[in-house]
Amino acid sequence: MHYTGTVYRNPYAPPSPLLEITQGCSHNRCKFCNMYSDVKFQPSPMEWIEEDLAEIKAFYPETDRLQLLSADPFALSFSRLNEICNLIHKYLPNIEIMTMAARVDNIMDKSVSELKTLKEKGIVELNLGAESGDDATLKSVNKGYESKDILEQCEKLDKAGIDYWLTFLNGVGGAEHTKDHALNSAKIFSQTNPTVVGTGGLVLFEGTGLLALYKKGKFNPLSEKGLMEELKLFIENLDYDGRFITHHTFSMDLNNSDFKKNKQKILERLQYGIDNLDMDQLADIRKNKRGL
Ligand code: SF4
Repeated sequence: MHYTGTVYRNPYAPPSPLLEITQGCSHNRCKFCNMYSDVKFQPSPMEWIEEDLAEIKAFYPETDRLQLLSADPFALSFSRLNEICNLIHKYLPNIEIMTMAARVDNIMDKSVSELKTLKEKGIVELNLGAESGDDATLKSVNKGYESKDILEQCEKLDKAGIDYWLTFLNGVGGAEHTKDHALNSAKIFSQTNPTVVGTGGLVLFEGTGLLALYKKGKFNPLSEKGLMEELKLFIENLDYDGRFITHHTFSMDLNNSDFKKNKQKILERLQYGIDNLDMDQLADIRKNKRGL
């Protein structure tokens, strides 16, 4: 198999073979991310894709599910994705579900009718790393799009019937933006229809712009308690009908398959954590994290 640089498997999705169709990230400039800093973005050669499909066919001929890599394979044009889908079906005729990570701006160059075609070919779900719905926060971390883009592009996915996950990156705005990051993210996410909202906490990884700013005293990260209070404010103001996932340093299980019904329970559990967890221990865990 051809795998280039970081390979990220969605830990919350059912297991499936991983097929690389791009290398690296089409943006590669978010100030909190170092995942693909050593890889130049480019489409994978069709010959590689075909060789990998033959290998997957040899080991999983009946598979009905694939996760496409790398950081944002949906950056490929409609025609390239369509061509790859056709190739996938040639090798793996049972495929029904193809998922992949995507940036919000990957959707911009595709019409609703093109999105519908991709859905018919099996691209049924995108994992959108939105991170924030607050424009000042998005700008401060160089995310490369605005909150209105999240609304416009998610509406296109809704019309095409493609499911999507949205992520909220807890703490990414630091102390300066915390309230607006929580409230505006909840406001924007609540106007969309994600099947899953996932949250993770900011880690200042080596080589990132945010770590450099922190070292110069220009980024003020939230404390562990501040992170949990920001998450609580986000959840309190969030309204959608789907699954909720947290991917945090704290061991509390806030995951829930029915956010709408169980929001109060999630908040009570989080409050228990705020009142009782050892924040120094959590800070140590965060400091020693080397990857997502
Ligand atoms: S967070 Fe996502 S979009 Fe931003 S640089 Fe990292 S992989 Fe690329």
